[in-house]
Amino acid sequence: MAKNISIDSVSHTYHPVKGNPVFALDNISLEVKDQEFMSLLGPSGGGKSTLLYMVGGVLPIIEVGENIVTDPHPERGIVFQNFALFPWKTVLDNVLYGLRKTGVPREERRDRAQHYIDMVQLSGFEDSFPSQLSGGMKQRAAIARTLAVDPDILLMDEPFGALDAQTRTLMQDELRTIMGKAPKTVIFVTHDVQEAVRLSDRVAVMSRRPGRMKEIVELPAGRDPSFARSPEYLKMV
Ligand code: ADP
Ligand code: MG
Repeated sequence: MAKNISIDSVSHTYHPVKGNPVFALDNISLEVKDQEFMSLLGPSGGGKSTLLYMVGGVLPIIEVGENIVTDPHPERGIVFQNFALFPWKTVLDNVLYGLRKTGVPREERRDRAQHYIDMVQLSGFEDSFPSQLSGGMKQRAAIARTLAVDPDILLMDEPFGALDAQTRTLMQDELRTIMGKAPKTVIFVTHDVQEAVRLSDRVAVMSRRPGRMKEIVELPAGRDPSFARSPEYLKMV
């Protein structure tokens, strides 16, 4: 089934229990095609997380494929900005937790979890608790948990934000490899222009609050890693 994401004239205002309402999103429309890698780029406070969480079903209501989203679902994996690991579970148990609601047989779950833990270079930390990990390691654990589920739709909220430059590049390459092997529809939030240009098919540029869609930039298809050193890349950035 096609996993396109259709966002049609969506606005959102937060009504906090205390304080004034916050007009976060103003009439956002965006079509993400099946298996397209779309970045959301924009300044802090522009509503990027809000939009992503609406698609994830954490906030209502956006159409995904044939369905209207009202709840979270394992087909849509989310990597939250603040990791959202269970502090009382080990790295391994956090990753296994994500696999619980999938159809993966119990015997296979452990191997699958280990594969993704190795991939994000956390081998040896399976039994560590989040409090024992650095920010970057927590982030990688959260990424492993989401990727292990192999969701059709991947929603990532500044997933590489806490990583050092070297690990960040590594994870970007890893993500591209994973997309090559198991294509997904991706919405990837970042405020890093270079990261958006490296990873995406298209980049949706959002404004300051209230978030509006300013421009959608299409990147050349089928570009290879050397693209990041080409004059065309610099022009795009
Ligand atoms: P971004 O991810 O682009 O930085 P957010 O979506 O997190 O932006 O936030 C958009 C705006 O909505 C900000 O001004 C933020 O302070 C506000 N906001 C976010 N979450 C809430 C909330 N739960 N209650 C009230 N205001 C919120
Ligand atoms: Mg955010």
